[in-house]
Amino acid sequence: MSLLLRNALLLDVNTGDYLEADLRCVEGRIAEIGTALPVPDDVRVLDVAGAPVLPGLIDAHVHVTAATADLDSIPSASPNYVAAHSARIMSGMLDRGFTTVRDAAGADFGLCDAQAEGLLRGPRLLFCGRALSQTGGHGDARSRGTRVRDDHPCCAGLSRIADGVDAVRTAARDELRKGAHHLKVMASGGVASPTDRIDSTQYSMDELRAVVEEAEAANRYVAAHAYTARAVNRALQAGIRSIEHGNLLDDESVRLLVEHDAFLVPTLVTYWALKQEGPQHGLSASNHRKVDEVLDAGLAALERAVRGGVRTVYGSDLLGGMHRHQNEEFRIRCEVQKPLEVIRSATTTAAELLRLEGEIGVLRPEARADLVVLRGDPLTDIGFLATPENIGYVVQDGIVVTDNGL
Ligand code: ZN
Ligand code: ZN
Repeated sequence: MSLLLRNALLLDVNTGDYLEADLRCVEGRIAEIGTALPVPDDVRVLDVAGAPVLPGLIDAHVHVTAATADLDSIPSASPNYVAAHSARIMSGMLDRGFTTVRDAAGADFGLCDAQAEGLLRGPRLLFCGRALSQTGGHGDARSRGTRVRDDHPCCAGLSRIADGVDAVRTAARDELRKGAHHLKVMASGGVASPTDRIDSTQYSMDELRAVVEEAEAANRYVAAHAYTARAVNRALQAGIRSIEHGNLLDDESVRLLVEHDAFLVPTLVTYWALKQEGPQHGLSASNHRKVDEVLDAGLAALERAVRGGVRTVYGSDLLGGMHRHQNEEFRIRCEVQKPLEVIRSATTTAAELLRLEGEIGVLRPEARADLVVLRGDPLTDIGFLATPENIGYVVQDGIVVTDNGL
């Protein structure tokens, strides 16, 4: 059964103009856009009465296996139990308008296939498998007094430890073997890790270059978790294409991001949420204190990057019970950007990062029929996008998957 949207206000994300038109979907793709389109047999007609319609949203930094903010507890949970959480988390994302997400560590080919086969409802999933971390790095969950680490592949962990050029090559090849769409490395300290400092750099240049070489050999790319300018800049010099967080970047980072055609994926909402609710969702007191170090700097970094012409992409990075704040990132970014610019970061620019340009993030014939129908104009009030209750319908692959009415 195909779908015909009547009387839609279709947003051209590139120009910011609305086109008053009908939109017809066939076999998961946009087939036709025009006025007073005829109604073929076996078509569901949905009259949206002049409601704004955006391309399905893309969140380029999520963790669909983050059942709790206490990430260190996940590897000892049953993977079946974690998968049940993932199904619920992904379902929520779809209802918030996200029809495609890029997982930034934790998801695997099992969840990707389950979504693609319709076994669970959720956004289309791009995954990196386990993030690569050095010993004592952001992906090393051991406390100082713990020596043993269980890296069994059946544990639902977010990362794996590999030290040295040969070992990181093997780890990179192993994640690519399991179908990773991109690779992820931990290139600096972080908030939710027990023994590292935010201002540490992680991995040698030789190790980073080896991961990039392996990714590029497979026509894939590398994303790096990095906070400080020092960590961001060396990651970019090693050929990393996607900088995650980047809260403490500098002018040199901005120059390198532009020069290397790289992307910045800020994740401001996660600090906003961790500050308010982290402890009640399992974040330890010492990690909660680290949040302050990166929260305020994040908005300033985004503003600096945008001014310097960097391509920025929407990311949320929420954990556990905080996933419900996923759309708040729109509101936070609008403190330093125009609504249309933030919408691009979650549509066209995100599609470029995912190498799915023209396929998703755009309303035009032949693109995937992923749509979000809103109850008001987000260009004049971002609240129509930042508050999920203002979403009327979500369409994925030409099927109405969320129906709240208008
Ligand atoms: Zn990170
Ligand atoms: Zn993350």
